[in-house]
Amino acid sequence: MSKILIVEDEKPIREFIAINLKREKYEVVEAVSGEEALSLLKDEEVDLVILDIMLPGIDGYEVCRNIRENLPDTAIIMVTAKSQDMDKVIGLELGADDYVIKPFNTYELIARIRSVLRRTKKTSALKSQTIIDGSLKINPVSQMVYKNGNVVELTPKEFGLLLTLAKSPGEVFERNRLLDIVWDEEYFGDTKTVDVHIRRLREKIEDNPSQPVYIETVWGVGYRWRLK
Ligand code: CA
Repeated sequence: MSKILIVEDEKPIREFIAINLKREKYEVVEAVSGEEALSLLKDEEVDLVILDIMLPGIDGYEVCRNIRENLPDTAIIMVTAKSQDMDKVIGLELGADDYVIKPFNTYELIARIRSVLRRTKKTSALKSQTIIDGSLKINPVSQMVYKNGNVVELTPKEFGLLLTLAKSPGEVFERNRLLDIVWDEEYFGDTKTVDVHIRRLREKIEDNPSQPVYIETVWGVGYRWRLK
């Protein structure tokens, strides 16, 4: 069971997050300030910290910097009220693993927590580890994909899409973002291309492409790898 520290001075928000994480069977500890969080982290081993930026005393940026320096294996999800703040987080390269913007819903937060924990656990265990999900096996190094033990032939773009989605189960990827990640700057067309490639990919990896169990369509937004 993963242990999560919630650092948030606003009691209703802190309690709301705590209740929902406990419901998901996470072990939860809480801190009302950055100072309390840092002193708590000296005694307790925590897998992930949900860190509000606006805190009394030392702020979330400072806490993030401190955790990164002293506890490099602890994952951090930053919480902010405004999307502009995230430019700062990313710009300063504080090393947060992900972020959520208030107001966020529980589903989004849980999905990000799962995704970050999966990612960080994998990184600390063995880098470039094979992803195994149901009957699928994806090797990021050899770029080989197997379904029920049989090789699945994918084009480089299909493989890029597959790996991008499968690496972050539950995370929604907008079509534009997939274009950015998988196609880089070489592509000038429209996002329909993503749909075409997803369709081909589904035909290769899904038992029933019209009822996909791996790649879900998020209507009006994009795609996500289904959380099992
Ligand atoms: Ca706050």
